[in-house]
Amino acid sequence: MKFTPPEWMPRLEWEAFVLMRKKMRHPLTDRACELITRKLANYRTQGYAPGELLDSAVEHGWLSVYVPNGNGRTTPVKATSVGKGPEIGFGCHACKQRFNTPGQRDGHECRGKR
Ligand SMILES: [Zn+2]
Repeated sequence: MKFTPPEWMPRLEWEAFVLMRKKMRHPLTDRACELITRKLANYRTQGYAPGELLDSAVEHGWLSVYVPNGNGRTTPVKATSVGKGPEIGFGCHACKQRFNTPGQRDGHECRGKR
């Protein structure tokens, strides 16, 4: 099954993000594409531009997308809500490590076999 981004997804920025993940040796699975697309769709309803969020992720080498924190700095948002949404259970699929926040998972030194 091949993931197809929704039509609102800016193709150039999305491809750049996918390529960056590949280069970081954390290539996106179809499931990861779906989850990130879901996050972007959610942020989009809050008024964020998906292309800018993807650009920020590429620029900083993030494995996921994060919204700016409002101070003009763009930093990963901490997981504040527990028990809802697709971001619970922050496990790495490659190395099976568990983390408290998606940011920790996304930033960890992965020793998982691929
Ligand atoms: Zn890992």
